[in-house]
Amino acid sequence: MKVMELNHESIMSGHLKIDKTLDRIKDKFFWPKLRSDVKDFIERCIICQKTSVPKNKIRIPLNPLRPSYSLEIVTTDILGPIKTKLLELLDIRRLRTSTFYPECDGLSERLNRTLKRMIKCYINDNHDNWDVLLPALSFAYNTATNSTTKFTPYEFKRKPKLPID
Ligand SMILES: [Zn+2]
Repeated sequence: MKVMELNHESIMSGHLKIDKTLDRIKDKFFWPKLRSDVKDFIERCIICQKTSVPKNKIRIPLNPLRPSYSLEIVTTDILGPIKTKLLELLDIRRLRTSTFYPECDGLSERLNRTLKRMIKCYINDNHDNWDVLLPALSFAYNTATNSTTKFTPYEFKRKPKLPID
């Protein structure tokens, strides 16, 4: 079924899980048993079976950062040295967290897990095309409904807050 392929298998959709694929389809289509069709399709998806991350039996409670408006807090998980001067120039407060300490920055850890899985779905055998995949996978992630906010990141577009604001 073309609708399923476009909304799940396409690189612009990212092989996301059932709820995100369902939300993407529900935006434009409806048919009886839609949810079970999506569930069946994804359960039969070979790529999803190969790249699924086993769920942790022990769930560590997350302590999500709670911004009061979009883009108030931007998290990033940078591996390697970062230019302190750039952080000063952009008036960015640096918060260091420990590796494998999701209680502190669970949202970044969760995003990293999702993004790594999405890359695994499309990476070539030489593992050298990941950088080419990022724009489309970023689009797929940013157009998928967030399970917490019930909005896609693109729906949070707002006028950027400038230092003078
Ligand atoms: Zn899949």
